[in-house]
Amino acid sequence: MSENKEKIKVLVIGSGPAGYTAAIYAARAGLNPVVYTGIKPGGQLMDTTDVENYPGYPKSITGPEMMTDFEEQAKRFGTDVRFGHVTKVEFNPMNHKVVVDDTTEVFAETLIISTGASAKWLGLESEIRLRDMGGGVSACAVCDGFFYKGQEVAVVGAGDTAAEEALYLSKLCTKVHMLVRRDEMRASKIMQERVKQAENIIIHWNTSTVEVLGQDGVEGARVKNNITGEETVIPMTGFFVAIGHKPNTDLFTDLLDMDDHGYLITKPGSTLTNAEGVYACGDVQDSIYRQAVTAAGTGCMAALDAERYLSQKEFEATQAKEAEA
Ligand code: NDP
Repeated sequence: MSENKEKIKVLVIGSGPAGYTAAIYAARAGLNPVVYTGIKPGGQLMDTTDVENYPGYPKSITGPEMMTDFEEQAKRFGTDVRFGHVTKVEFNPMNHKVVVDDTTEVFAETLIISTGASAKWLGLESEIRLRDMGGGVSACAVCDGFFYKGQEVAVVGAGDTAAEEALYLSKLCTKVHMLVRRDEMRASKIMQERVKQAENIIIHWNTSTVEVLGQDGVEGARVKNNITGEETVIPMTGFFVAIGHKPNTDLFTDLLDMDDHGYLITKPGSTLTNAEGVYACGDVQDSIYRQAVTAAGTGCMAALDAERYLSQKEFEATQAKEAEA
């Protein structure tokens, strides 16, 4: 294993809105941050077409363009952006060790974890093709629902996220088809009641998606009744998948406190994790809001938390030296 002896003050793991915002703040504070981008630089927004709800872009912007702007802004103040995937971490308040691509060791005084979360998909060829071409398949109603105003859409899933997405879309769309694979929903009782009371949400029980229809954009979905095996086609222009997210936290198993779903736990009102000098921001610690703007907000918080920690450490070291003298 090659050893890189450089010592970094702030090392950011992940390059979505949270990671780059942390880098912008740390760089402007003179901390020369390093960002390791991960396998997919830019994160979830690289799968998004138009972003219309991020303040400051009145004419909207595509997700990949926005992430290029974030990266440029971070670099402008001296952030060192490196392509690399962190494969191991060892926490040590004196000097955290981070292994990149199983080969390079780097050391950092503080770590900011912004590895994000990944939406789960059904895995159908038609679903992935239409998702990748921005053709009407999405995992975020708040991000993309507006594009389907006055149209007919479907939501797959029956958890709290699916219920929330269906209710959000029901205020914009003429009809929302909820495709539920069993004869009951996993969502909390109150959310189930709200869904059932919404006049334009139609729940299709015991229903799985066989294919999302359409060449250049969603035109419908071929669905199957899991009891009878009967297949039918539901017309729609938007297909929302809400079958859960997976936070990218495997790297931190047994090292950091996580909730039952694997999201990192931070001290309320801060980005502090249970490890000294280690901060978490963005979707990796947020299963509720999951927006670019909220991720960026917590990225800013993480950089400020790290900066205060480093200043305090420096102050204490100076005092100790003075006491010795
Ligand atoms: P969940 O894991 O709770 O639910 C996933 C849903 O997707 C289930 O209904 C599951 O069906 C369904 N599903 C999974 N795979 C497939 C598939 N291949 N085809 C069709 N359906 C599928 O995920 P959520 O994102 O909804 O919620 C995650 C956590 O976050 C939960 O604890 C939830 O309560 C919480 N949450 C809280 C909110 C709030 O409090 N406001 C808002 C959103 C989430 P099945 O039931 O058959 O397994």
